[in-house]
Amino acid sequence: MATLSDPARPRLTAAQRREILKEDEAWVGKAFNVQANPRAIQANTRYLTMLLLDTALPHRASQAASFAEQLLDTIMSEHTGPPIACAKGCSHCCTTYVSATIPEILNLANSVRRTILRRERVMAAAVQCGATPQVQREARRVICPILENHACSEYAHRPVSCRYLLSKSLEVCVKMLQRNEPAEFQFADNVVAMRSFVIIMMKTALHLCGLPGQHYELNQALAVAMATEDAEARWLAGEPVFAAVPVDSNDQDTSPLKGMVHHLAGVIAPTI
Ligand code: SF4
Repeated sequence: MATLSDPARPRLTAAQRREILKEDEAWVGKAFNVQANPRAIQANTRYLTMLLLDTALPHRASQAASFAEQLLDTIMSEHTGPPIACAKGCSHCCTTYVSATIPEILNLANSVRRTILRRERVMAAAVQCGATPQVQREARRVICPILENHACSEYAHRPVSCRYLLSKSLEVCVKMLQRNEPAEFQFADNVVAMRSFVIIMMKTALHLCGLPGQHYELNQALAVAMATEDAEARWLAGEPVFAAVPVDSNDQDTSPLKGMVHHLAGVIAPTI
């Protein structure tokens, strides 16, 4: 799969690239139908890639995560709707396994580390999660250390995987997440597709920049981010800062998203 450091990659002329960037302005950070607008997907992926390449920005990984998270909110605000059972004070889903890309982890860590109590809770949850294999997480639930009074205390910085988890049925959530009974989660309209495409954009941008794009278990990765001095700069420089954190078992090389990342990387590479 092409990366931007490949000296043999084809490249458009500077004038063509400028023209594409000008056209991108119509789509960057805007709401669009993810299943019917490949041009908008390309525009936002190019924006993320260029943001990650901008070495003048020391927190460019966190900034890329923040952009992707807000993009998902913007898209969801226009392309999903009632019935939605979720409301402030309902936190059944905050006991499930959560994974996120490293930029999302770094973005959340920047905020969590400012509050001592939250930081201590994350460290304790990381130990608990480290001792609980992913397959056992549904049976042995770990309450998210970011949760306070049944609400997300880092709502503005929560990862993509938390944002898209909108339910149509409280009854099903209680059954699955409180009583551990088998049931099929009732996702709100279109949220699964919207989350998938935002993840594809982020993974493509990370791949093009030669950075790892897997999803890591949230609590252990947060603990590493907070315990490592200059974690963001070191990760951006290629240090395997998160090597000891388990990757989400659903995010392997065989993931169906990989083919789409491959295709999108091939489209974006010549335009940068
Ligand atoms: S980060 Fe926030 S939304 Fe996500 S599981 Fe934790 S408390 Fe819930």
